[in-house]
Amino acid sequence: MAHEYFNCIDGKWKASASGRTFEDLNPANRTDVLGLFPRSDARDVDEAVKAARAHFARWRQVPAPHRAEIMFRAAELMVKRKEELAALMTREMGKVLKESRGDVQEGIDMTYFIAGEGRRLFGHTTPSELPDKFAMSVRVPIGVVAAITPWNFPLAIPTWKLVPALVAGNTVVFKPAEDTPLMAQRFVEILLEAGVPEGVLNLVQGIGEETGAALVRHPDVNLVSFTGSTETGREVAIGCAQRHARVSLEMGGKNPIIVMDDADLDLALEGAVWGAFGTTGQRCTAASRLIVHRQILRQFTDRLVERARQLRLGDGMLPTTDVGPLINEAQLKRVHGYTEIARQEGASILTGGHIYTEGDCARGFFYAPTIFANVSTDMRIAQEEIFGPCPAIIGVNSLPEAIEVANSTKYGLSSAIYTRDVNKAFLAMRDIEAGITYVNSSTIGAEVHLPFGGVKQTGNGHREGSPTVLDIFTEWKTLYIDYSGRLQKAQMDNE
Ligand code: NAD
Repeated sequence: MAHEYFNCIDGKWKASASGRTFEDLNPANRTDVLGLFPRSDARDVDEAVKAARAHFARWRQVPAPHRAEIMFRAAELMVKRKEELAALMTREMGKVLKESRGDVQEGIDMTYFIAGEGRRLFGHTTPSELPDKFAMSVRVPIGVVAAITPWNFPLAIPTWKLVPALVAGNTVVFKPAEDTPLMAQRFVEILLEAGVPEGVLNLVQGIGEETGAALVRHPDVNLVSFTGSTETGREVAIGCAQRHARVSLEMGGKNPIIVMDDADLDLALEGAVWGAFGTTGQRCTAASRLIVHRQILRQFTDRLVERARQLRLGDGMLPTTDVGPLINEAQLKRVHGYTEIARQEGASILTGGHIYTEGDCARGFFYAPTIFANVSTDMRIAQEEIFGPCPAIIGVNSLPEAIEVANSTKYGLSSAIYTRDVNKAFLAMRDIEAGITYVNSSTIGAEVHLPFGGVKQTGNGHREGSPTVLDIFTEWKTLYIDYSGRLQKAQMDNE
């Protein structure tokens, strides 16, 4: 029998109100069940929000440096448990162990970094236009924060949200992805062990359309911080708009790598392989479009196909594995569906294009690394986020054309250009519509102390990571202190 896990509401571990559960499966081996988790509904969500609301008044008064000390302790615990957490992550969502270690490290980096903000949380002081008057603005917490996260970075992304939310003095209801409930459970255990008080952080497990939707609609949630697909993000935004709740959205991508004819081709190939097939193409920053100058198109394509064919699929725990499974059966079918779409659209499938069932891979959700060529920008495979190991190669004749192609989707998260020409690099940095642009490096590799997020339908104007994340989790309050002893009128008294 699989182990049964619970929600954490007001410091108590409890089953869902309905008593229903869902299974957590290893995507490399579907017979390996990691546990049963509560399938929560609006009743569980309501209880969690009430607990978070009840604890807000006290938590917001705890000095921020003390709130942050708890986060430093949490980071220490993550350092101690890094290997254990990474192995569990690979078992739960499939990425190769080295990448899981990177995910845990990102969580550690983010937690230390944001904990440092506990002693800053800077506001502004500025001169008043009137004599004997002082003016400043300070950051204040927003209230109850709902954090809704995806499965592809099951530790790092929760740290991006929970740590700044808590350091800033908010209380939290956390709804993780249904594909990675156990990583969420472990992270919440760490935060509680580090000293987050009962009820300040609540965990509600469940399915997006039930638990997530109930949280978004709850009238007492002040801010929803969401990371996931653009389609779900739209639903979340609509739910928040109806009750004027604040909402921060980090959504999908269709990230381009431009390879110019003067590029270091070996370097560009390394970047393309890592960007397209790393994490089985299941990163929001995955390189899913390779926009290549026609002068080098044949050479680049041949070498990429050769590299893709050499990639070894398997369980991410094995040191021989380059590419792990897709997250679940639905995603396997969806990715395979795009191969069919590519065929219908007239693209060439140069390698892969099938479900991979060799040896032990038959037990999991594996898809052969696939390359689409002869792709034009209007094709669905060039426009839609597939979230699998299947980049599309698009040939171009010039830098302006490459940038036009790069900008031709509704997304705008990450982007990259490989060139040795500094002028071309600067033009690309200026003109590519994306939140992040890399020069001579892949679309992957964000560091926690720089802003992270996207433009167009990838985001709604916020940036996680770096101190800009505080703009999501705090309100500005402006304070005027008049010590003149008389009524002074701004804009009128100094005429
Ligand atoms: P998803 O949109 O299916 O789910 C994300 C979360 O939303 C999950 O917790 C899910 O349970 C919940 N959810 C689903 N329906 C909901 C609803 N109606 N109301 C409220 N919550 C709901 O995404 P996913 O498959 O978990 O993750 C993959 C997607 O996330 C990709 O599109 C990827 O690009 C994106 N992503 C973006 C970033 C970023 O920072 N921009 C980072 C990682 C992943």
